[in-house]
Amino acid sequence: MPLRLYNTLSRKKEVFKPLKNKQVKLYTCGPTVYWYQHIGNLRMYLSWDILKRVLKYNNFNVKHVMNITDVGHLTSDADTGEDKIEKAAKKEEKRAEDIVKYYLKVFKDDFKKLNIIEPDVWPRASKHIKEQINMIKILEKKGFTYKIKDGIYFDTSKLKDYGKLAKLKKEGLKEGKRIDKGEKRNKTDFALWKFSKQPSKRQQEWKSPWGIGYPGWHLECSAMSSKYLGKQFDIHTGGQEHIPVHHTNEIAQSESAFGKKPWVKYWMHGAWLLFKGEKVSKSKGGLYTISELEKKGFDALDYRYFCLNKQYGKPLNFSLKNLEFARNTRKRLKEIISKIKNSREKKNKKNVEAAKKQFLEIINDDINTPKALSFLWDVLRSDKLNNAEKYELVIEFDKIFGLDLDKEEKISIPIEIKKLIAKRQTARKNKDFTTADKLREKIKSKGYYINDTEHGAKVRKL
Ligand code: AMP
Ligand code: ZN
Repeated sequence: MPLRLYNTLSRKKEVFKPLKNKQVKLYTCGPTVYWYQHIGNLRMYLSWDILKRVLKYNNFNVKHVMNITDVGHLTSDADTGEDKIEKAAKKEEKRAEDIVKYYLKVFKDDFKKLNIIEPDVWPRASKHIKEQINMIKILEKKGFTYKIKDGIYFDTSKLKDYGKLAKLKKEGLKEGKRIDKGEKRNKTDFALWKFSKQPSKRQQEWKSPWGIGYPGWHLECSAMSSKYLGKQFDIHTGGQEHIPVHHTNEIAQSESAFGKKPWVKYWMHGAWLLFKGEKVSKSKGGLYTISELEKKGFDALDYRYFCLNKQYGKPLNFSLKNLEFARNTRKRLKEIISKIKNSREKKNKKNVEAAKKQFLEIINDDINTPKALSFLWDVLRSDKLNNAEKYELVIEFDKIFGLDLDKEEKISIPIEIKKLIAKRQTARKNKDFTTADKLREKIKSKGYYINDTEHGAKVRKL
C-alpha cells in the first residue's frame, strides 16, 4: 500500500514519490517567536510530526527543516504594519534577541513535552541575511524586482502562473494601481527587502546593496530551504492561511530565482484548531498554552491524543471537556497496556503481520489518524489476538502515535499528598493498620491511589 498524500497544488490525493530514491526533503514554516505558541499553533506542528513519523515508517529517510522567524514578519500580510518581534521587544522593554531566545526555548520545551521529533535544522531568519540578500540579487539580475520608497519589491505581473497554488485569478494582478513612486505596481507584489524608516528605531537591521533594512517575511523560507534542502525539494508544509500569500509568494520568488518547476513537489496544509466553532483567537478564546493545560491537571500527551482524533486536514473543535475525555481514554489505554505487557503467550506471526498491514493501509491513506486510533482499540478488544500479539502491535503503532504507550507515567505528587504517604508509611511500620487505611482513603479522596508492592508504596493518579 503506497503512501498517498493530499497535495494542495493539484487538490488531489497523490501517491507519494520523492524526487530522489528514498530521500525526503521536508520544509515546515515555523513560528514567529514573539509570544507563547498556543495549542492551535501546536496542533500544526503535531500534524507535521505525524507526517514525519509516517514517512519514516514507510522507510523514507527524512531531512526536516523548520525555520524560526525572528525578523521581518509584519503585523499585516500586506507588507505593512510593525515587525512582530520589534513590537514585542518594545512592549516588553527587552532586546529582540532576548525575546527570541525566551519564546524559542518555551516552544522547544513544548515540543519535548508533546513528543514532537525535533527538525534536523532550525534556521533563524536573522542568521541568514547574506543568503536572503543573495537571492534578491539573483531576482534583480533576472528582472523580477523594482525599487520603491519603502523597499525592493517582487513584480508578480512577470509571472504567467502567479497564484497557481491558491488558484488566484489572473485579473487580480491587474487590479493593482500604478500611482506614486512610493506604491507597488501590482496589488499582489510583495516586499523582498524593506528599508528601515529614518531615523531608525529598529534593533534588527542590516546593510544591503539597496539600503539599510531587513528582509521581507516570505524570502526567508525560500532562501533557507534552498540552503539546507537544495533548489528543489519534496514536501512543504504550513497552515492553510499561508496558501494565498506566503506560500504563493515563496513559489513565485523561488521558481523565478532557481528556474526549477515545480519548486516543491507536494504542498501540505493543516486545518485549524477551533473553539466554539471558530479558529481559536483572543476574542473567541481557546488560546491555551501547554503550561496552562498542565496547571489544569492535563498532561501534554493528553493534548497529543486529543489531536490524533482528527485527520490533519480537517478542523478540530477544542474544549476542556473534550480534552478531559481524551485524558480519560489515554489513561484507560495505558492501564490496558500495562496489563497485557508481560504476557508470555506464543505469538502467531501471521496474525501480527496481518494487523500491521491493515494499520499501514489506514495510515498511508493521507495519514488517517482517527481511523488508526480506532483500529488500535479494535486490536485491543479483539478476541482473535492474544495479549502478546496485542502488545507487539501497540508498540508498533505507537511509532506513529508517539504517545509513549509503553512508558510508566511520571507523576508529580503534590507535597500535601507526599506528607500523607509518609504518615501512612509510619503507621504501617508501627502496625497501626486502622490509621494506615484511613490515610489511604484520605489520599484516595484527593485523587491518588496507593498500591503497596514489595518495592514499597507505588502511587498513581486516579
Ligand atoms: P505564527 O507563529 O502566528 O506564524 O503561527 C504558527 C503556525 O500556527 C502557523 O503554521 C499557523 O498556520 C498555525 N496556526 C495558527 N493558529 C492556528 C489554529 N487555530 N489552528 C491550527 N494552526 C494554527
Ligand atoms: Zn514560510
